[in-house]
Formats: sequence, structure tokens, C-alpha cells
Amino acid sequence: MDTTSKEILFSREVIQKRVGELAAQISKDYAGRELILIGVLKGAFIFMADLIREISIPCRVDFARLASYGAGSESSGKVVMTKDIETSIKDKDILIVEDILDTGLTMQYFVDWLRERNPKSLKVCVFLDKRKRRKVTLEADYVGFAMEDGFVVGYGLDFNERYRFSPDIYVIKQ
Ligand code: 5GP
Repeated sequence: MDTTSKEILFSREVIQKRVGELAAQISKDYAGRELILIGVLKGAFIFMADLIREISIPCRVDFARLASYGAGSESSGKVVMTKDIETSIKDKDILIVEDILDTGLTMQYFVDWLRERNPKSLKVCVFLDKRKRRKVTLEADYVGFAMEDGFVVGYGLDFNERYRFSPDIYVIKQ
């Protein structure tokens, strides 16, 4: 029996509005430049797809896959890159697009990894920011929503590979 209960946190309408605002800000900040968005799989795939369609400047896309979570909901702290990017980022403007900044361990790893490849600029855009849970000093440059503790699913985010398809974001309780 499924004993999971779900409570809506951000509806699709609220999400759509905020993604539009983020895209407008990014388009303004990078006006006249060519931006490469690097999405972090799997969680950011829906956010990335929505964001890029609202951005009004030319951009290219690439994806990496980083894993820090096992099957549960707590970060293992150990980050593994299971899919590399396929674009040369040297001297390019790079924006990482990620679903959630939680402890920050995953993002810290990725930022350090990308910096070694000498991009012209490197910024971070996250859909959700759990700032209070941070274990490293790292802030995102663009944040969709700040949130308190709690495990969320939907809009690309999963719990054991479930719920990614939901257009709204839910907090789940078991
Ligand atoms: P961090 O390394 O910052 O602790 O973890 C970041 C990753 O953990 C996120 O990219 C995301 O995949 C996962 N994560 C953190 N919090 C949540 C959450 O509330 N729900 C889901 N589905 N994944 C989360």
C-alpha cells in the first residue's frame, strides 16, 4: 500500500510565472552574448526545457549527469559524474541549470569541475534553494524559489524515480 501523502507547494501557474521572470532576467543579463546552458540530469530536464523556451537570446544547450543521492532522500555527500558534457566551454559564457540546491555538495563539485575548463563566465541557476541546509559556502546567481526543509517531487523531481511527470511541485510525507 502507498502510504505517501502529498501536499502542493508550487502550482504549475506559479511555476510558469516565476520561470518567465527568471528567463527575462537572464535574457537581460546576457544580452548581446551567446550563452551555453548546461542542465544537470535528470532533475532539471523540465525546468531547463521551460526556461530555454522563455529566454529571448540565442543559446546552446548541453547536459551533464551528476549523482549524489542513492535510492533514499538524504545526500550521500559523494558526487559522481555519470555523463560528461559534450561541448567545449573554454572562453564561453556558461549557465548551470539545476533543480535544487540543498547541501550544495553536488553543485560545488560541478562548479569546481567546470572552472578547471576555463569558461569566460560561470553562473548558477537553480529552480529551488534550500539555503538553510547548505554545507558549503555557495550561492546560486538565479533562484526560482527559496524553500524550507522538506522533500519535494514533481516538475522533473523524483522520489525513487516516481512523480517526475507531475506539472506541480509537491512536498511528500511518509
Ligand atoms: P546537494 O548535493 O545540494 O545536497 O543535493 C542536490 C541534489 O539532491 C539535487 O540536485 C536533487 O537531485 C537532490 N535533492 C535535494 N533535495 C531534494 C528534494 O527535496 N527532492 C528531490 N526529489 N531531490 C532533492
